[in-house]
Amino acid sequence: MKIGTKCVQGGYTPGNGDPRQIPIIQSTTFKYATSEDMGKLFDLEASGYFYSRLQNPTCDTVAAKICELEGGTAAMLTSSGQAASFYSIFNIASCGDHIVSSSTIYGGTYNLFAVTMKRMGIEFTFVSPDCTEEELNAAFKENTKAVFGETIANPALNVLDIEKFANAAHSHGVPLIIDNTFATPVNCRPFEWGADIVTHSTTKYMDGHGSGVGGCIVDSGKFDWTKYSDKFPGLCTPDDSYHGVTYTERFGLEGAYITKATAQLMRDFGSIQSPQNAFLINLGLESLHLRMKRHCENGLAVAKALEADSRVSWVNYPGLESSRDYALAQKYLPNGSCGVVSFGVKGGRAAAEKFMKNLKIGAIETHVADARSCCLHPASATHRQMNEDELIAAGISGDLIRFSCGIEDAEDLIADIKQALDNI
Ligand SMILES: *Cc1c(COP(=O)(O)O)cnc(C)c1O
Repeated sequence: MKIGTKCVQGGYTPGNGDPRQIPIIQSTTFKYATSEDMGKLFDLEASGYFYSRLQNPTCDTVAAKICELEGGTAAMLTSSGQAASFYSIFNIASCGDHIVSSSTIYGGTYNLFAVTMKRMGIEFTFVSPDCTEEELNAAFKENTKAVFGETIANPALNVLDIEKFANAAHSHGVPLIIDNTFATPVNCRPFEWGADIVTHSTTKYMDGHGSGVGGCIVDSGKFDWTKYSDKFPGLCTPDDSYHGVTYTERFGLEGAYITKATAQLMRDFGSIQSPQNAFLINLGLESLHLRMKRHCENGLAVAKALEADSRVSWVNYPGLESSRDYALAQKYLPNGSCGVVSFGVKGGRAAAEKFMKNLKIGAIETHVADARSCCLHPASATHRQMNEDELIAAGISGDLIRFSCGIEDAEDLIADIKQALDNI
């Protein structure tokens, strides 16, 4: 199946007389005839449902669709993109370990890594996505367990050279984890470029209607943990907290990582997606391929209009020929990048604030990748925890406006932007 067909049909094949739309299994628990039956589920000897903190059929159906879209072998939904980012790393790293991450990542992820996970004893080295191979290789340590980056960084919008990062990760015996939120599998499938694990904030384009916060983790099943079993004892040696199961032995390379994340992390931290919200994510997924096309068309049209306007000091959009990352975008995102455009208006911070207030269609929101256009000033909102140096490393200037083009008509978005510039 092609990507659009997977968006519509993936994950769920109803049998004779079954509901056509995926059922919302709004149940915390599941009934069994004997304790023995249930015991087998607890021991991971049989597969089935027993408690929705561990697994729920609706969530599994939607995870299966995202898994198909990314071309992975196993996937799980989480309550948020933040939970997905946290689990993706904590599943293979713990106190005393080290992670290499691109410096241009979502502000919430940066805070999770640089502050909260640091307090858990996991150290992060942030590298510029533009670094040379030598600089990238120099960031690794004996205790490095993974490399992390975003396909299209939020909000810096640089396109990651996924192959460069995958090669460096693999030459050091660790997986590459890619947050593919902005590109979505419609525009880029990082596994095809060597990434091993993909994370999503489904809150963004996948949901697409601003209706539910959610996340997802997908495993490619390609990383051979057993080749580096001393680095990944959690996957390659018996788990005492789960009746001595060794995940790689019992579930193979295709299932070990997600089964461990479900059995240990979801069991203990409980960041579950609700069945209701999983249903909403699926409604969004059914039109993802159509919406992404429109988001990208609007993004390019708005970026071109901004570029041609003398009141705008700079524009950054990976699809613009003038973009620093145009070549990378052509390689990794040939069908379009995303609907998010960043730019600065002449007059700096004060003019930016005035401009945003003047907009009539584009609303000021801490949100992005929605059917409705919205905009944000990251330096005073999502990235306000960062000092000036950290902002520069994250690719954010004080005047940066992040404009997320929705799926309205481009003419209307451009007219709205023009009148907002006129009235600064
Ligand atoms: C929004 C976002 C996140 C965090 O996701 P939530 O669903 O808000 O927790 C992570 N990564 C990227 C790229 C994002 O845009």
